[in-house]
Amino acid sequence: MNNKQVAVFYGDDASPEVMKPTVDLLRSMNLGIDFIEPLVGKAAKDATGTLFPEEAKAQIDKADATFFGSTSGDSTPVLFYLRWGKQTYANVRPCLYVPGFNSPMAHPDGIDFVIVRENLEDLYLGLEGDIQELAGLNMYSRHARANLSDLGPGKYAIKAITERGSQRVIRHAFELARQREKLKKVTVTCKYNMLALADGLFLEIGKRIAEEYPDIAFEHFIVDDFLCRMISHPHDLDVVVMPNLYGDIMSDGAAGLIGGLGLAPSGCYGEDYAYFESAHGTAPDIAGKNIINPTATVLSAAMLLEYLGEDEAARLLKGAVAAVYTNQENLTADQGGRASTSEFFNALQAKLQGALTNN
Ligand code: ATP
Repeated sequence: MNNKQVAVFYGDDASPEVMKPTVDLLRSMNLGIDFIEPLVGKAAKDATGTLFPEEAKAQIDKADATFFGSTSGDSTPVLFYLRWGKQTYANVRPCLYVPGFNSPMAHPDGIDFVIVRENLEDLYLGLEGDIQELAGLNMYSRHARANLSDLGPGKYAIKAITERGSQRVIRHAFELARQREKLKKVTVTCKYNMLALADGLFLEIGKRIAEEYPDIAFEHFIVDDFLCRMISHPHDLDVVVMPNLYGDIMSDGAAGLIGGLGLAPSGCYGEDYAYFESAHGTAPDIAGKNIINPTATVLSAAMLLEYLGEDEAARLLKGAVAAVYTNQENLTADQGGRASTSEFFNALQAKLQGALTNN
């Protein structure tokens, strides 16, 4: 049988400090997966004159999935390709409390919900410009009772919510709710009161799709109300789906509920491709210090394994993470511990070896 292939990008700033040992860990599991490392960024520019050569693009296309370290610079064209090129429209961000996580909540046990963030549109199309460019359109604000061009000098950014984009991500959320053994519920959230057309469309599509899933409960909240509920009653949530910007913000908040950004994994799924990366960024402020928490990256790797059909390996990996947290002796500073990133990995490797031997 042919090996599966995963394209790996180590990312920028502190990302390689967690990506490289995670890939080593995955390689040590002997799963019949080849981890290939396409040449991109500065090294590619020096060698080929471009940051993202066609060869690297072809390697991504040929791979079954990509494992991606957060980027702040030269590998950004790769990220854009993974999103818009591969049409990975559903960014799935689980918020699962594991005993031992340094949660600020009094009762974090049982927090287990998933944010499904639309990944390709909304304000993230990068359609920005000078307000004066729109003067000819004579746009009138019912809310401000003024023409846009009367507001004075400034910039605009376009928020686009499409029917197709909303349908596919909301459907993804319902399918996920069906798979999960939890509340069998989907929550839609956005600002449909103020943005009656754009976010109103997202909600309407949610309501329509809900009718196709009579086995799944459906509810909706305006996003500010949702945030309050997410903090006060996180146990009531199962799968929550929302447009891109709200998803970006709410998922960082959700990570805060269980103990911080260092714990939050993420996977971005399209019809026929997926890539996996931690929900956090490149943590530039702690780069080079060997203190970044690898948990988010390792749990993203577990999501990658599940996507590749390696459920047992994913289970063992998540079990090893849980064992490190139960033991508490090798936690990083963000979790109140004193271990370095390397010490965390050593402990994780030992737990994993133990689990593999007993399996
Ligand atoms: P982005 O916009 O790309 O998501 P960001 O501006 O939200 O990035 P992050 O890189 O996510 O920034 O970092 C936010 C803060 O959280 C920083 O202080 C960073 O050091 C901390 N942080 C992020 N990830 C981790 C981690 N894995 N371990 C420890 N601290 C982390």
